[in-house]
This record gives sequence, structure tokens and C-alpha cells, in this order.
Amino acid sequence: MTTTTLERVSEEQSGNKTKTKRVLLLKPRGFCAGVVRAIDIVQIALETFGAPIYVRKEIVHNSYVVTDLAKKGAIFVNELDEVPEGARVIYSAHGVSPAVREAAKQRGLKVIDATCPLVTKVHVEAIKFAKQGYSLVLVGHRDHEEVEGTQGEAPDVTQVVSTVEEVAALVVPDPNKVAYLTQTTLSLDEARYMIEALKNKFPNIIGPHAQDICYATENRQTAVKNVAHGADLVLVVGSRNSSNSNRLVEVSKNLDTNSYLIDTADAIQPEWLEGVNTVAVTAGASAPEVLVKDVVEYLQAMGYGSVDEVEVMPENVRFGLPPEIVQAIASAPPVGR
Ligand code: SF4
Repeated sequence: MTTTTLERVSEEQSGNKTKTKRVLLLKPRGFCAGVVRAIDIVQIALETFGAPIYVRKEIVHNSYVVTDLAKKGAIFVNELDEVPEGARVIYSAHGVSPAVREAAKQRGLKVIDATCPLVTKVHVEAIKFAKQGYSLVLVGHRDHEEVEGTQGEAPDVTQVVSTVEEVAALVVPDPNKVAYLTQTTLSLDEARYMIEALKNKFPNIIGPHAQDICYATENRQTAVKNVAHGADLVLVVGSRNSSNSNRLVEVSKNLDTNSYLIDTADAIQPEWLEGVNTVAVTAGASAPEVLVKDVVEYLQAMGYGSVDEVEVMPENVRFGLPPEIVQAIASAPPVGR
């Protein structure tokens, strides 16, 4: 594999677009800091305490990751009443509502919180705005666990919207006292559009100091935006229920470049490649690199001999482990003694 620059991709696109069958491997792609941290937490918990370790919901939205951790002894449950009283449970990277935290306390569960710090930041904003007497509008997908958790911080004053029609239909007690927040994994363009609609409806609306869409979502979308115009097809490695992965497909399609979301290389349909010279490959924030490698190998076997990595921007974010797991590691006897 070689590396190439955005400038070279652009030159080829504007002038003599290459007819060589090739793969452009976008960077950054795949695991974000929140996902690395969440998976590390489950692995360390399994190594420190031994199986079984319960995990509420999928630790991150990727079937390969969940299956792998389940093989190592993690038990994934939908709700805490499936966890035996007093057992150890990990909250997923998407966060939980205070009602879930209370339920864990009632059942005497030993909790390890793998909520991404960038999701926690949105929870803190929700609590702050609600305490200040604002009605809250949360832009996001109401069936997503992250949105359920954030809404749960101030359920009486929070309304979730995902379309401009829903913005138009909003009714609040005081239109001059409204604040908005967003899910961390939205499309940047869609969020901008929704926030504009909110500002038109509530001219005095306030929002977070820094946007809630996280760095990983933004960087992966920016990479697709920069390269999609030079590709005939964009393949996004990620699971169906991964919000940020779905957004990458949308970003590409909005630029008129065909795109598919694939869990693994097996999902690629050979007819997608008909007449396709350049395939751009990226991965959502919860998709492991091993699956990207499989996709590249599949494409190479299909005649895409040249593989260039295109780094659109550097990304070096890391999050520390939560205090409960640091303390647990320090105080727990090693497994087997
Ligand atoms: S996608 Fe963003 S918010 Fe979600 S876990 Fe990764 S860094 Fe955190």
C-alpha cells in the first residue's frame, strides 16, 4: 500500500482521471477514542474480574466487536433486570439516563461506566440548561440509545426532533427560553440545517459553546467529502445500527457518489463494481480495522491492484479509563487466585 495526497487525487479527478482500478483508503477511518476506550474497559474488566461481565446494550454498534467480546465472556443484555442482583455491569459508550443509574443502584449492581466522555459532555449541558429553566430541543434520532440517555437527564423539558417539520411543530412554554443540543453522530450538514430551522423558529435559542457533533464523526465525514468526488463508489464498513456509519453513506450519496454500508467484505455485491475504477473505502467509528483489511483484500482479488491511503487530516485523540476501572484494577485480586 502507498500513500497519496488529496492534491494528487484532485488533480487526477479534474484532469486525466485514472482508468486504473484502484482503492483509496480514507484516513482517519474506523475506531474513535470513545470506542477504543469502551472496548478496553470490557476487556480489562474480563481480565481483572473474570467472566461473566454483563454489558447493558451493545458496547459499541458493531456486530463483529460484540460477537468477539461475547466469546470472551461478556453477556450483553437489553435491560438491567436481566442482570443478576449484585453482579457487575458495564454501560455502553452511548450512555444511560439517570433512571438506568437508579435502577442499577436498586439492584445493587457494581457499575462500570464506559460512556464516551463526549456523550457525557452533552449530558452535562442538558443538566445545566434544564437547571437554568430552558426548554430543551435535542436534535437526533429518538430510537438511538444516546438520545434516550441524554433525554433522560431532563425528560420533562426535553423534546427530540429529527426533521424540520418536527421543528415547525414544536410548542414550548416560553419561546425566548429555549436551548438546543445534538446527538454526537449526526451529519454535519443535516445538523446545520436543523439548527438554522431552530434559529428561525426561536431567534433567541441558545446552544452549546462548542458543537456536540464529535471530532470523530466530523473527521470521517470530512474525509468522505474530500475524496468522494474522485471516486466512483464509496464503501463504508460499519453495522446497520451505527449512526455515524450511516451518515458517511449519506454524505457520499449527497455528493452523487454511489455508496454502500457493509458489515463485512462478504456483503459486497460484485455488480456494485461494474464500470467502477476507483473505490474509496472508509469505516465508521465502531468498525475494526481487521474488517477494512478484508474489504481491501477482496477488492484486490477483484482486480483493484493499486491501494493508496489518503490522509485527509491527522487524528490523535485518546481518552483515559474511568476511575471505577482504574480503582478496580488496583484493588481486585488477579483472576485465578
Ligand atoms: S463516535 Fe464520537 S461520541 Fe461516539 S464514541 Fe466515538 S468519539 Fe465518542
